[in-house]
Amino acid sequence: MAIIVQKFGGTSVADATKIRRAAERAVAAKKAGHQVVMVVSARGKKTDELVSLAAEITDQPHPREMDMLLSTGEQESVSLMAMAVHSLGEQAVSLTGGQVGVLTDSSHTKARIERIATERMKRHLDNGSIVVVCGFQGTDDDFNITTLGRGGSDTTATALATVLQADVCEIYTDVEGVFSTDPRLVPEARKLSRISYDEMLELASVGAGVMHSRSIEFAKKFRVPLRVRPSYSDAEGTLITPASDEEESVVNGVALIRNEARVTIGEIPDRPGVLSVIFSQMAERKIPIDLVVQDVSSGGVAEISFTVPQDDLAETLTAAQAAVDELGAGEIQSGTNVSKVSAVGVGMRTHTGVAAEMFSILAAASINIGMVTTSDIKISVLVDRNSADDAVLAVHRGFGLEQDHHPTPRIGFVKKISEANNDQEKQAQLEQDVVARLTNMEDIVVSDVNLDQAQSRVTISNLPNSPGVASQLFSAVADGAIMVDMIVQNVGAKNRTNISFTVPREDLDQCLLLVRAVLEDWPDSDLSYEKEIAKLSVRGIGLRSHTDVGRKMFQALFQAGINVTMLNTSEILMSVVVGSADGEKAHDCLHRAFDLNS
Ligand code: ADP
Ligand code: ASP
Ligand code: MG
Repeated sequence: MAIIVQKFGGTSVADATKIRRAAERAVAAKKAGHQVVMVVSARGKKTDELVSLAAEITDQPHPREMDMLLSTGEQESVSLMAMAVHSLGEQAVSLTGGQVGVLTDSSHTKARIERIATERMKRHLDNGSIVVVCGFQGTDDDFNITTLGRGGSDTTATALATVLQADVCEIYTDVEGVFSTDPRLVPEARKLSRISYDEMLELASVGAGVMHSRSIEFAKKFRVPLRVRPSYSDAEGTLITPASDEEESVVNGVALIRNEARVTIGEIPDRPGVLSVIFSQMAERKIPIDLVVQDVSSGGVAEISFTVPQDDLAETLTAAQAAVDELGAGEIQSGTNVSKVSAVGVGMRTHTGVAAEMFSILAAASINIGMVTTSDIKISVLVDRNSADDAVLAVHRGFGLEQDHHPTPRIGFVKKISEANNDQEKQAQLEQDVVARLTNMEDIVVSDVNLDQAQSRVTISNLPNSPGVASQLFSAVADGAIMVDMIVQNVGAKNRTNISFTVPREDLDQCLLLVRAVLEDWPDSDLSYEKEIAKLSVRGIGLRSHTDVGRKMFQALFQAGINVTMLNTSEILMSVVVGSADGEKAHDCLHRAFDLNS
């Protein structure tokens, strides 16, 4: 007899008919011989309504009271669901998060799960009941009700599946499964039959709202097989699993965060420790920052830009001001009319030219790129909000994602340069070793720190801020089949663009030749490079959303007196570039910071 967890999202329990249909599904699974735990969200737009109601009373509701309020939506659903099961002649019992024993920390409205008790659920399951649990909520050690953040019922479901060692966790929702991009935005989006944990984790964290990204962290950490399925039919949906050996698509999905905000802290000293101060201030408020770019201008003055979800802007500005006070210098600027578009695919590990292709697709659509960062399986760009929809459509089409089969596209600049290696298996083993030692379920998992001393950095500053610049540059480099690794682009002071990237050291000379040829078009630009750099990559699960990873990382580097010249962040990988003489030292201090054996 298997344990199955079935999660039903808001639209799938919006009215009595839908509640009955969900109950029928659970009863069918029970009749097929399984023990069934249902995790249920608030009905329809209930949570949004409660949020608006609070906003009518005050624009600064106390987070504890918000949790008390929002948790009622789920309580309504579970009782109705249990009644629906009863009316089908089966036993059911509804339980709140607190009644189950979902213990969280005390950070109201974004609480993290520490432990989940299984006794009560198991007792009811063994007595033949279907257990119906409120998603999205728990209690802290003082019995305060907490919630896990919007969309958090997915996380409740995968966490319950973990502690119950369920055979599968099924996420029932209002679409056919996980698509190559949001099907409501791009009707030609294609449903994927399978997607890897890593890709789903990155996509969910950059806007693919179909899953709460923390639920994928659970799934990956504890190897829970996840299936996203429609609640209105028997279709198979999408399986989310470890990466397979099949030939992977270069790009598997495109995601959009429409309401991003951009923050720049200028006029700060260029010395070790600045990033540490900024990341610490953000971590204290659990604000995940993204597209982090550091520009050093003349006179030892630096400028750091990053993006945050627009909803976090007010708190981010408070945090930025605290950082400026701590540093004793700095000017803060922010802008809100921007959106983030990201392309994700594991094939980026084995192909060159993917960034060049994406930039040229955007250039062809006359879309200007404000900022860029890349990670090992993700490229994110910041665009004006009014071109966001066009950008998503262009990138989706440009990579041929609407087509039924899109094996490695031999399009444009994309070239395969290596076979997938079995590092993934080794990585999974390292991860499992760390997971086995966790005290709390949602604790940070950093499994590995890698030192790469075989790369060089190239920086071009003072480029014009117009569509097609990045495209022209990276197309030239891609023509040489050079594996460009970290790319960061920023539009800095005076509306000029700065771009930095790393390439294998053996390709540096050829790369410089190719770049110099393009730069003839832009006589004002400056090219500089650093032949010997050290690149450090920290691997793990949920690195960006666990804001403490950035804090720990930059604190450790600061304490070792190491200056960081480039960085990028993602859910599975955070990379920094430091001077080559600091490489070993940085490697050791990061190993120590994350308690890894050397
Ligand atoms: P639920 O209430 O079931 O949790 P959500 O609204 O949270 O449902 O998630 C489902 C929605 O996610 C879909 O209606 C769709 O518009 C959106 N979505 C965004 N990106 C994707 C994607 N890549 N694949 C599928 N759906 C997506
Ligand atoms: N009801 C909560 C929300 O709307 C949780 C969820 O649906 O996952 O965010
Ligand atoms: Mg959801």
